[in-house]
Amino acid sequence: MTTVRTAIVIGGGIAGPVAALALRRAGITATVYEAYPSTTDGVGGALALAPNGIAALRAVAADQAVTAIATPIHRTVMAVGHRRVDLPALEGVPPLRVVHRSQLHRVLHDLAAAEGVPVEHGRRLVDAQETEVGITARFADGGTATADVLVGADGVHSTVRTLIDPDAPGPQFTGLLGFEAVARHEVDVAPGTMTFAFGRRGYYLYWPEPGGGTRWGVNLPQARPLGLREARAVPPAHWMRILRAAHADDDPGRDLLLTSSADELQAVGSLHIMPPLRHWHRGRMVLVGDAAHAPSNSSGQGASLAIESAVQLARCLRDLPDVRSAYAAFDRLRRDRVEKVAARAARINQTKAAGPVARALLPVMMPLLVKTAMNPEKTIGPEQRYVIDWGAPVTAGRIDR
Ligand SMILES: Cc1cc2nc3c(=O)[nH]c(=O)nc-3n(C[C@H](O)[C@H](O)[C@H](O)COP(=O)(O)OP(=O)(O)OC[C@H]3O[C@@H](n4cnc5c(N)ncnc54)[C@H](O)[C@@H]3O)c2cc1C
Repeated sequence: MTTVRTAIVIGGGIAGPVAALALRRAGITATVYEAYPSTTDGVGGALALAPNGIAALRAVAADQAVTAIATPIHRTVMAVGHRRVDLPALEGVPPLRVVHRSQLHRVLHDLAAAEGVPVEHGRRLVDAQETEVGITARFADGGTATADVLVGADGVHSTVRTLIDPDAPGPQFTGLLGFEAVARHEVDVAPGTMTFAFGRRGYYLYWPEPGGGTRWGVNLPQARPLGLREARAVPPAHWMRILRAAHADDDPGRDLLLTSSADELQAVGSLHIMPPLRHWHRGRMVLVGDAAHAPSNSSGQGASLAIESAVQLARCLRDLPDVRSAYAAFDRLRRDRVEKVAARAARINQTKAAGPVARALLPVMMPLLVKTAMNPEKTIGPEQRYVIDWGAPVTAGRIDR
């Protein structure tokens, strides 16, 4: 049984509210502190939650509310030029669920509010000091907060990570810049089909948007990283010209870009991954989500792993007698799993950012890729079939789930 009673959760994205809800179920009172002044309504595009992510949401009774706002994806297809191959699917596993990031934030924040979890906006963490009995967070507005533990759910550019280890590596740029929009063009695929397309000069994906049109995302190869603010400072019409040129020879990429409005283009900035970290925790501080393990958007697992880690951390803090053993158990429970997902995503990223020679070989490689490297039980089976047993006690020894 834990002696931890209170928690400061830094970051109100995905891992933060889930961690606070799970901690509350573990008997720990948590407050979420988010740097942004409000929830990010309408901003940020879509993301796909994998079955394991939805299963983890069940631990905090958020699965149904999230499923209700999601579009199910029953079929995934890989396309190179005009060749389309169905990606093998897992038997008996629920579909991927695409959600708008802003709606997901809204649902998680509403659940937090309904369960009495305070979420304070406009509170940017700048420092934290430990004492014998607790930890005090200091915010950019000059305010402070004190609790037994501090959870860093502050994303890929985490401040908590640097407070835990000033020498920790920062996020690595994947060489790709993300964009998203909805085209007026209707693609000739059944609803619930997501296509991962390797175009002549770059990678894109698309799926029919319920209610009409086609939602697409592009990963544009880019020499240097560009922050979200920098990417959004560039006029959207300029980005649209670049994207249209990049996909001028792709079908349906060309039509998707031509029938999309620059005004509705979402620039999501540079896509990053987190290299493995030596330290996920120090003293009373610990990391969850992208702050500790961002596997790149190519895995389709970033948000799902963030949710899983938030839930698993709460189990560890619930069941182990002190912070030190809880954090050690959390590390043991999570590290191997998230590093395997990151390694798979890194291989996909290499294909996405492929140079012209590798791209020319893709059509030849495609059937082989699908048949061998993509044995679904081996590649995505362990990722997607993972279900957290919230009721099972965590022990200090070896843990598998
Ligand atoms: C283009 C793109 C597409 C993606 N697609 C998918 C997908 O299909 N499937 C998937 O699973 N994942 C996807 N991801 C990854 C997914 O978005 C992340 O893994 C997920 O958002 C991680 O959640 P998080 O809560 O750890 O971090 P975040 O969602 O980044 O939340 C961190 C929060 O912390 C706040 N914060 C930061 N610093 C401070 C501070 N100092 N003080 C207070 N608050 C702070 C931020 O404002 C933010 O709200 C995608 C990512 C991108 C960029």
